[in-house]
Amino acid sequence: MNLSPSLSPAATASHWAPDSWRGRPALQMPTYPDPQALETALAQLRQLPPLVTSWEILALKQQLAEAQQGERFLLQGGDCAENFADCESGTISNRLKVLLQMSLVLVHGLRKPVIRVGRFAGQYAKPRSADTETRDGVTLPSYRGDVINAPEFTEAARMPDPQRMIVAHSRSALTMNFVRALIDGGFADLHHPEYWNMSWVGCSPLAAEYQKMVGSIGDAVRFMETLAGARVHNLNRVDFYTSHEALLLPYEQALTRQVPRQHGWFNLSTHYPWIGMRTAALEGAHVEYLRGVRNPIAIKVGPSVQPDQLLRLIDVLNPDDEPGRLSFIHRMGATQIADRLPPLLDAVKRDGRRVLWVCDAMHGNTESTSNGYKTRRFDNVLAEVEASFDLHAAAGTRLGGVHLELTGEDVTECTGGARELTDRDLERAYRSTVDPRLNYEQSLEIAMAIVRKRQQ
Ligand code: PEP
Ligand code: MN
Repeated sequence: MNLSPSLSPAATASHWAPDSWRGRPALQMPTYPDPQALETALAQLRQLPPLVTSWEILALKQQLAEAQQGERFLLQGGDCAENFADCESGTISNRLKVLLQMSLVLVHGLRKPVIRVGRFAGQYAKPRSADTETRDGVTLPSYRGDVINAPEFTEAARMPDPQRMIVAHSRSALTMNFVRALIDGGFADLHHPEYWNMSWVGCSPLAAEYQKMVGSIGDAVRFMETLAGARVHNLNRVDFYTSHEALLLPYEQALTRQVPRQHGWFNLSTHYPWIGMRTAALEGAHVEYLRGVRNPIAIKVGPSVQPDQLLRLIDVLNPDDEPGRLSFIHRMGATQIADRLPPLLDAVKRDGRRVLWVCDAMHGNTESTSNGYKTRRFDNVLAEVEASFDLHAAAGTRLGGVHLELTGEDVTECTGGARELTDRDLERAYRSTVDPRLNYEQSLEIAMAIVRKRQQ
């Protein structure tokens, strides 16, 4: 029987299967040159063990539900894109350290638990604004992230290779394994925040403020333990969750599994997948895919999204108004947020829908310098975070978290901040192959600024 696509079961609203997205337009997908090689890689992937468990996913969903109630705050951060070469102990532990330090600042200042979510252990696929790139008259496919192709500007490097999905799965597993081992081994122990210090902290202009805060947390921990007469054990470890953009749907599908004793399907490649701004169309493949998995999910919301579109997305992605299920990550840009955000907040509030609002203060603030670097100004990032708090307060909604691109490395990719980096500093340590990240100090500074804002 020859069903037209609009009549196929995969395309109807109620039926869902891990592959029903194939009946919808799938944007941002690579064209693999050899379909057989793609099938071989996907068959291998389907055999490999998952990276996370359903009970971790459900625990995170519960915490996100609490964040919706204002009882927790979400800190989500990491690279724009991980590289396979960054799967290395120093890079992983420095990224963990900066996220732990930021979360410590936030816990201390906001007086509420922080949900820590990394953009890592799977953040390997990138949406691009153009399918091809031309240099000196030569046109090649765009770099789409290490899970798809390589950044070098050669035909061989830019050819999508399905075996890269297997490598991405193992690098994600190695990253997760190391993060889990560090955390279980006491790395995140609140008795020893000094373990999280990085070598250059001592000479940072922020060091004094941070050390003062660490000192007062140490005092608080000792005070509590004196009262309790014992060591407070749950300070020894923290929870850490992972997230990535669910962009490369064949990969996501291969890691979508059913779990014994749990009803439904889970994406077991990450705890908290999100859909990017370019693939969030209501009728598109990415929304169709995420509709059916039980993970908590997030959608990026850019300045062109209309209130009605947002409500339709909620209808499709969270029809039962399940707590913790759906987050909207708004990324408007410092200059547009005051115009664009309030109508969205009002519409969702008026409809009584339950979502977690998160501010991505990076992606609306990207610009290019005259010497050809993609950068972001610290002041714009900060302004967008601060405006978000104010606009939510005015609308009677709640900003439940922040989403940032950052690294624990001492890079110079974003300008400004305590060291007042200028456009000329960018060439010194610009390492991102995609978007510019906050460096260690700039990240900590944002965390401190959030706290100052809340204490006003
Ligand atoms: C990203 O998070 O790296 C990204 C591409 O974001 P957006 O989809 O919001 O542009
Ligand atoms: Mn990015």
